[in-house]
Amino acid sequence: MKWLENVSLAPLTTFQIGGPARYLCEVRSERDVTEALAWAKENELRHIILGGGSNVLVPDEGLDALVVHFVGNLWSFGACEIDTWAGSNLFTLIEAAAMGKCGGWEKLAGIPGSIGGAVRGNAGAFGSEIKDFVISVRALNAGTGEIRAFQHAECDFSYRHSFFKEHPEWVITRVRLRLQQVDATESAKLAEEIIAERERRHLQNVRAAGSYFMNPVAPAGIVAQFEAEKGARSREHRVPAGWLIEKAGMKGAIVGGAIASLQHPNYLVNQNAASAADVRALAAKVKDAVRATFDIELHEEAALF
Ligand SMILES: Cc1cc2nc3c(=O)[nH]c(=O)nc-3n(C[C@H](O)[C@H](O)[C@H](O)COP(=O)(O)OP(=O)(O)OC[C@H]3O[C@@H](n4cnc5c(N)ncnc54)[C@H](O)[C@@H]3O)c2cc1C
Repeated sequence: MKWLENVSLAPLTTFQIGGPARYLCEVRSERDVTEALAWAKENELRHIILGGGSNVLVPDEGLDALVVHFVGNLWSFGACEIDTWAGSNLFTLIEAAAMGKCGGWEKLAGIPGSIGGAVRGNAGAFGSEIKDFVISVRALNAGTGEIRAFQHAECDFSYRHSFFKEHPEWVITRVRLRLQQVDATESAKLAEEIIAERERRHLQNVRAAGSYFMNPVAPAGIVAQFEAEKGARSREHRVPAGWLIEKAGMKGAIVGGAIASLQHPNYLVNQNAASAADVRALAAKVKDAVRATFDIELHEEAALF
């Protein structure tokens, strides 16, 4: 296991923002995680789990903590069932599965980060979510050291939500996934098309954490306004946070180096050496404007450490 002291965290996040971690260790197995968490407990230090760093905002002052950084790609295939280490990169696994003629989850291609991060937040795109492919999740309790397999029904998945989001003491170590048999070339082509579509919509390669806010459930009148204007059906009575932000006049709003993206206003982007304080202040402004315009409260999707 690699242990480091006083490590800059900004390069480990897609926001490219944040101060140093007092300690960081790279973990590649459940055994490593057990050891790292035991060390943090022994030394009375807070621990923070970091996967791909694509849905987090690290404070400018850094973290007086042990950051447990999930790294490495490791999985095994049996037919189209995959048993994967939680640190495995989602896109790398989608590509590898396609080569093994397993797929069906190509719409998730291009979502940055690890399998563990994806399961914890039930990541999704274009109507597909990681929950659609999860059989079970193996997790380690940071408090008690217990290791448990959670069957799909116990994971309490819903829109950008899982049991693990509500219970951060459970650290995801392995995930079992079920895919379908597919044609390898067709699957790779589909994934490429999805990535191209994401690029066209400016959803890729930006210094952001993806959608900063979750799409909120809205009153019927606002849902109807959204549906009429966009000619799209709302799912679960939710409306896109980006649409609300634009309507509230906050598209392109700037605080310091942070901007509510002109292409996708729910992306708060590190445009010009933004600090975490800039992003938080911009988020507060956006929330105020949406509350004042619609009486709707936005909630962060990105994890604020
Ligand atoms: C350009 C861009 C586009 C994006 N597009 C999408 C999209 O289309 N759909 C979507 O859903 N998301 C999207 N995101 C957000 C992000 O990619 C997902 O939320 C992703 O699944 C986060 O995974 P991660 O490994 O990077 O998690 P991290 O950012 O490292 O961590 C996020 C949270 O999960 C926790 N966590 C991470 N690993 C574990 C684990 N093993 N056990 C327990 N907790 C863990 C962390 O402690 C933290 O609280 C996008 C982000 C970016 C930057």
